[in-house]
Amino acid sequence: MQGLDVQPETIDRFTCGTLRLDHADNKVTLKGWVNRRRDLGGLIFIDLRDRFGITQVVFNPEVQKDAHELAGDLRNEFVIEVSGVVLKRPEGTVNPNMPTGELEVEAHALTILNRSKTPPFYINEEVDVDESLRLKYRYLDLRRRRMTDNMIQRHRVVKHMRDFLDERGFLEIETPLLIKSTPEGARDYLVPSSQFPGMFYALPQSPQQLKQLLMVSGVDRYFQIARCFRDEAQRADRQPEFTQLDLEMSFVDQNDVMELTEQLYTEITEKFSDMTIQTRPFPRLTYQESMDRFGNDRPDLRFGMELQDVSDALRNTEFKAFRGVLDGGGQVKTIVVPGCGDYTRKQIDEVTDLAKQAGAKGLATMQLQAQGLKSPIAKFLSDDEITAMTTGIGAGEGDLVLLVADQPAIVAKALDALRSEFGERLELADPNVLAFCWIVEFPLLEWDEEGNRWDATHNPFSSYLPEDEHLLASDPGKVRAKQYDLVGNGYELGGGSIRIHDRAKQERIFELMGHKLEDQQDRFGALLDALEYGAPPHGGIAPGIDRLIMVLARESNIRDVMAFPKNQRGIDLMLNAPDLVAPEQLDELGLDIRQDAAQDARAKLREAAVSAAEAETAPAPDAPKP
Ligand code: ASP
Repeated sequence: MQGLDVQPETIDRFTCGTLRLDHADNKVTLKGWVNRRRDLGGLIFIDLRDRFGITQVVFNPEVQKDAHELAGDLRNEFVIEVSGVVLKRPEGTVNPNMPTGELEVEAHALTILNRSKTPPFYINEEVDVDESLRLKYRYLDLRRRRMTDNMIQRHRVVKHMRDFLDERGFLEIETPLLIKSTPEGARDYLVPSSQFPGMFYALPQSPQQLKQLLMVSGVDRYFQIARCFRDEAQRADRQPEFTQLDLEMSFVDQNDVMELTEQLYTEITEKFSDMTIQTRPFPRLTYQESMDRFGNDRPDLRFGMELQDVSDALRNTEFKAFRGVLDGGGQVKTIVVPGCGDYTRKQIDEVTDLAKQAGAKGLATMQLQAQGLKSPIAKFLSDDEITAMTTGIGAGEGDLVLLVADQPAIVAKALDALRSEFGERLELADPNVLAFCWIVEFPLLEWDEEGNRWDATHNPFSSYLPEDEHLLASDPGKVRAKQYDLVGNGYELGGGSIRIHDRAKQERIFELMGHKLEDQQDRFGALLDALEYGAPPHGGIAPGIDRLIMVLARESNIRDVMAFPKNQRGIDLMLNAPDLVAPEQLDELGLDIRQDAAQDARAKLREAAVSAAEAETAPAPDAPKP
């Protein structure tokens, strides 16, 4: 891993991170923030901080009386300029944990460039701070070392992406943010226009169609560090606006895009994290295999505890609960949890609740204890069946076997939840390992009950395996897409596909998705027309940048790798957005706001503001640090 922040030679002043013993006796001027002040009666010590590091400054009244006196006024976060001489620190006061720890600057002159109020939280300490407070004062939060490092890491990674792609002939091209509303699975953010009252632009959910149009333009290889907008319910690892490395290539097939991405991600991990990649080349799993083995399509491959199917051993069972499910086309699957065979009744009930929260009607358990098998269902099962469900699936003494019987989707969801719960509880995943994998052969379409139509599982422009084309007429749900997702440690890091480049084929997919031929021209006219002017075969991918940095920086909150994120409800607590606009602005746009809706929104925003204000006035966790 490379050092994160190195001062480039082109910065022609000393910073708080540059000085070393070689500079001893040099006259220097440093500018920065007071990180900490220690007043030892005679001497005043200031830890002076900037982005590049911290340098100790000492004010000695015998050396310079005025500077020492003024230093008595300094408080944390004052921004100052100090001139003085670099000295080797006296014996016994060297700090081996700081790059500048062998020296100090003896101050000869001090200027206070600006004062600071007492900050609402400690900037010089890694302490827990209420997040709404951090978001409201984000400019102060970003001064904290951990956040500064996250920003630096992000910058380095993105720069590497640019260099890597530039070397391979990619062009970085900006695409507009004000576009036409197009379906990509989520709700669009709309932007009204005063020039055309009643008309709206949409912010892109991704530059998907534009990058495809660039392929028709002959760009051949495009990329963009692209901002995407999706107006949907927020989650811990989601934001209403986020950044993707959006790329597209002509004359390629799946392998070309996957190999290029794999090489880029390998380099990034090796250069910008201290994690080891578990397996190279990245394992490739089909969607079906991933669902069967892990119950999801973004498996954490750092640990096993895979789902096992015991349906076959139970086809003729007398146990009605299992038999009924199997006869109804369901399945019985299990995971073996190592070392939890001695769970108490209460613990088993808790685990059962987890399975129920994930949608299972119930959970059957078998505890392999030294005294024998403990299981409420054992009495309904034959010896052969019990063997199949214990030693048959590799369970041994001390283990806990969890069984779910239901339709496949429910079994997958419940066991996935239990697998990840126990993965965490038993610390099965090595935090120093990055297990990348690819998921391929996704279903192209899924049935949308509500809309009574097929819907694209990813985006409507993905093409499909040619051998599955005949299924479009007979069994569309079985058609496999030329689609690939990059997964790392249980996170979906990005997805892409080879696109349809033939108008008739694209129209057919749109029709399955419920867009009548006559409406298609209005919604997708540009792309459909372009496909008729020598559109090359093409495909791409768009890995999310925020999530990647989050994994590399070992953060669990996506907001910690974004400079100015919204909170979990999509509110910018610093700028107070969203907000009301002046009645004249609405007038210009030809808009009327429904008062009932507006009241609701105001109440929600007020609630968020109050909780931020409460955090601000809450007593500090301990006495202020000097
Ligand atoms: N545009 C797609 C997305 O944002 C990614 C892609 O297929 O390139 O998910």
